[in-house]
Amino acid sequence: MVRAYAEFGEPGEKTKLLIPPTLPFPRKGLPKNAIIKQLKKKLNQNLYASSRNFSIVYAGHPHPITRRASQLAEGTFFADWEQDSFRGTYLLEKEAVRMVGSLLGAPNAFGFITSGGTESNLIAMRMARDITRKKRPEIILPETAHFSFKSAAELLGLKIRYIPLNPDMSPKMEDVGRLINDHTICLVCSAPEAFLGQMDPVKEFSEIALRRNLLLHVDAAFGGFILPFMHELGYDVPQFDFRLPGVTSMMTDGHKLGLLPLTASFFLVRDAKYLMSIPTEDTLIHTITSTKPGRQAACAWTVFKHLGKEGYVREIRHVLEVVNLIADGIEKIEGLRLMARPFITILAFTSNVYDLSQVHSELQRKGWGTLLEKRHGAWVVRLSIHPDVRKSNARLFLEALNDTIQATSHH
Ligand SMILES: *Cc1c(COP(=O)(O)O)cnc(C)c1O
Repeated sequence: MVRAYAEFGEPGEKTKLLIPPTLPFPRKGLPKNAIIKQLKKKLNQNLYASSRNFSIVYAGHPHPITRRASQLAEGTFFADWEQDSFRGTYLLEKEAVRMVGSLLGAPNAFGFITSGGTESNLIAMRMARDITRKKRPEIILPETAHFSFKSAAELLGLKIRYIPLNPDMSPKMEDVGRLINDHTICLVCSAPEAFLGQMDPVKEFSEIALRRNLLLHVDAAFGGFILPFMHELGYDVPQFDFRLPGVTSMMTDGHKLGLLPLTASFFLVRDAKYLMSIPTEDTLIHTITSTKPGRQAACAWTVFKHLGKEGYVREIRHVLEVVNLIADGIEKIEGLRLMARPFITILAFTSNVYDLSQVHSELQRKGWGTLLEKRHGAWVVRLSIHPDVRKSNARLFLEALNDTIQATSHH
């Protein structure tokens, strides 16, 4: 199917935009059954079943109760400047945000549900720029930070100063001091970063932010809906949220490990007063989008109240058991090396014995989704495990990986 598409980009480039042949807008409609059949056929081109997809699937299926919540909230929406017509939907969002604030150590935190982590990070950078109003504004972030900060910098006219990495990919904290100058508007760190799932030292960032009087934004896209529950399970979780006094804003994605439908991210500030610097006139629109679907708010509110911390703890216990099973299995395979022992739900392995691009394609052929990336000239296979993955899937995956390795030629 892909061959009929034109490719945008040079051959051999890592990613190319696929551009389909021209397509007229249909003159006549098709009957329901016929078009649904076509739709199914199209969706069948998706390569993997959710339970066998460890590629860039982070959420798996949302919690089943969201189907009912979505249905009930269908067609409802709200806008911050008109709080009457959909008062109930509006309050669902405000209350869902409050619950996430409490989960992240600041019951007084306020914010919004956004269209995704990218929008949340963009708002955070805009807010920092508008609060500080510095000339030629700069932001400081580890090289492992998410791409959305590059977009934000480009859109908002910010300069990025990157914190270089140690060999274990943690940021060189001793370099932060010399990167700060009169133009610095904020520090950014991740809890955890998205490639290996390793925590930035948020506490150290918080101390520096307080000492140097800077704003600090924590990107907890993955962390917000796993770290609090890992803490309850007795894992040694470093502090990462509003309990650290230097943290001024945070974001977390409900569609990563929060069991919410795509897409629902939360942007939060420690105190609503920080939002006042964003010029909204009478619209009160602090986000990038204006009209908000009611579905996201209804789903978030419903799942939080239905599962409670106890429900999330059960889910997270399960997913971490699956992660450990896979990590142990990979460690037993001679010639493969885990880049780090997984802390959350992300694993990555490399090899100087096997051609991992071959391993990746063979796994794909067998119906298993993994992500292949090149890092410092070496192939890395990355897996993201989500709550849909059963232990039986994990065992089948390890079998498939073992078989694939047996059949793969040495370099
Ligand atoms: C996923 C992710 C984002 C971006 O979130 P989207 O919802 O894809 O826009 C930002 N930061 C981190 C660390 C992430 O993992």
